[in-house]
Amino acid sequence: MAELKFSPNPTKNASKLAAISNSLDLASSTAGRYTAKFAGRRIYENTVASTEKLDNPLLHSDELPAFTSIDPAHVEPAMASVLEAARRRVAELTAAPAPHTWASLAVPLDDIDEKISRVWAPIGHLHAVADTPALREAYNTVLPSLIEYSTEIGQNEVLYRGYESIADTPDYATLSGPQRRTVENALRDFRLSGVDLAEDQKQEYKRLNTRLSELTTKFGENVLDATQGWTLHVEHESELAGLPDSAKSLARETAEREGLQGWLLTLEAPSYFPVMSYADNAEVRRKMYEASTTRASDQGPNAGQWDNTALMGEILTLRHARSSMLGFPSYAHYSLATKMARSPDEVIGFLRDLADQAKPVAKRELEELKQFAAAHFDMDHLEAWDIPYYSEKLRQHLYDVTQEELRPYFPVDTVLDGLFDITNTLFGVRISPRVAVDTWHEDVRFFDIWDEDGNLRGSFYLDLYSRPHKRGGAWMDECRVRRLTDDGVQTPVAFLTCNFTRPVGDAPALLTHDEVTTLFHEFGHGLHHMLTRVDLPSVSGINGVEWDAVELPSQLMENWCWEHAALKLLSGHWQTEEPLPDSLLERLRTAKNFQAGLQMIRQIEFAMFDFRVHLEFNPQHGPRIQETLARVRREVAVIHPPSFNRFAHAFSHIFSGGYAAGYYSYLWAEVLSSDAYSKFEERGIFDQATGREFMSCVLEQGGSKDSMELFVAFRGREPITDALLRHSGIVTSDTTANSP
Ligand code: ZN
Repeated sequence: MAELKFSPNPTKNASKLAAISNSLDLASSTAGRYTAKFAGRRIYENTVASTEKLDNPLLHSDELPAFTSIDPAHVEPAMASVLEAARRRVAELTAAPAPHTWASLAVPLDDIDEKISRVWAPIGHLHAVADTPALREAYNTVLPSLIEYSTEIGQNEVLYRGYESIADTPDYATLSGPQRRTVENALRDFRLSGVDLAEDQKQEYKRLNTRLSELTTKFGENVLDATQGWTLHVEHESELAGLPDSAKSLARETAEREGLQGWLLTLEAPSYFPVMSYADNAEVRRKMYEASTTRASDQGPNAGQWDNTALMGEILTLRHARSSMLGFPSYAHYSLATKMARSPDEVIGFLRDLADQAKPVAKRELEELKQFAAAHFDMDHLEAWDIPYYSEKLRQHLYDVTQEELRPYFPVDTVLDGLFDITNTLFGVRISPRVAVDTWHEDVRFFDIWDEDGNLRGSFYLDLYSRPHKRGGAWMDECRVRRLTDDGVQTPVAFLTCNFTRPVGDAPALLTHDEVTTLFHEFGHGLHHMLTRVDLPSVSGINGVEWDAVELPSQLMENWCWEHAALKLLSGHWQTEEPLPDSLLERLRTAKNFQAGLQMIRQIEFAMFDFRVHLEFNPQHGPRIQETLARVRREVAVIHPPSFNRFAHAFSHIFSGGYAAGYYSYLWAEVLSSDAYSKFEERGIFDQATGREFMSCVLEQGGSKDSMELFVAFRGREPITDALLRHSGIVTSDTTANSP
């Protein structure tokens, strides 16, 4: 789940930048490497002979980026030029005599940030969606210079004192709420970057940052290399019995590309998951499971190769050391400094309460699975690699519905029309396509969002289909952010990226219901970015929103994909235009919470491990990774994996992404989104007043206020877990649960 990325913005996010830059490759990168490795064509073929003689399009993006004119050769000079100009301007600002004011310091710093992100946003985006070797090289060359610049700014004492003096003047009270919020966040981020440290400690802090960035990058590379470093060559089709045709074709194509006969299975998601769910051959599943769960570790078929054990230990040690320098008892405490949760106890208590509710349900589900496998397949014992397979059999037995069967009812344009209709009903905004916009690929579309008064509120690129050189997964990213300039309001622009199957033959692109849900999710992030009314970039849209609250709008939007009335709007058979039949729709809805207890317990296990391994780190005892995992499993797990399982060694979210001591955020935000949605359930899922309230209380406010304050403004009270437990089928609607 790596669908939300932040464009690095040095001063507004200095402390976070190192982690964020590393998280760009989070989770979805595996498939990106996959497509890059087997890419059959170059997307970026235009080369510029001598860039010095020509205008660099990256430096002239006053409007939207001129994607077709951007060449990898432009990247390095553009970044060098914009960073040099930024340093010059910062030097002027810091040389100016005190006192500093909002107008003399914060405004020009925002201008500097804006200039950098205008250059960086298209580079980062192309790295994700049109990642040729030349572009990747250019990207990796300039990334360290951006990190260096941001650390420099984060530790710039004169700037820090400048912000302090803004906060200390009597005029401070006259600043707007978002302005004061910007100053508070800036002061916090300077401190988290080590600005208060003595000079020698600053150097040490910088050293830790740089080393951590190397280690976390290396962790991710090991996971990728280990993922690609193992394949299973299958010569007889009988060994693939049970596998859907789409997965078989993929395995066939993969073998052909490698010059092999037969089929080649890999540990990439599109190959691995279908095998685990559908392959009848238990030995094939066992091999795949073992290879996957021992990636980058001391176990399994490639034991010791790409082994992350030492890296993980050093990462935990350095994170702890860095947090200690700033006075935090642990990295978990440091992590919470920018989150909605107030204390480690609150996070642990939250997870334990959820576990108490979910565990009995998960146990019942496992028991049901065992009985089913025994009764129908004579299986008296289920191994770890049997569980997904028999679960899929049970799901089909109970609900008789598959994702493939739903595809013909979700042609992409029907889904988009339905999504835009629903958005229009709820928030009163109209969405219209804009043609002749310069993009990075012919499939990419561009849309504008207009409000009820006819004002342009934002725009987005929509890049729906998977293709070579494009990273897997789905995400929303900022192209540009809303801000007030001398010329008026600059409207926000988003990149919405998915990896759906492109149209095949005469049929339009047909989506599975999972893909429809993904589209709604990313669109929810997009609405948060685009419908903001905040004019200050560092607290506008998703900026400045606590990490554990940022999934509220995205997860909220998913709910409509499960509603009868909404599905009627979203579906229409691509040949007959018949909406999704009621019988199929009901089976889909009842299958929604299949094994919800087991799924939730798994998320709790990951979240608890992540949090405790950071919270309980003690330099005298070393990292104790497997011990912590074992302790967490004893407490919460229902399914106990084999002893060779080294899940943590490929847990990129926390060891190379931005989720360290923050993986709990997924569950935390789900409480918020479920509870917010329950207000729609109470008043009607298409209730316009409730939609407008959500827009004005949450979407328009961005990060200008605490997420709790925004939530309370919308819901009229603090969040409670009832709705999440009910929506996920953990408790039925007539029982109520305790608030967290
Ligand atoms: Zn998301």
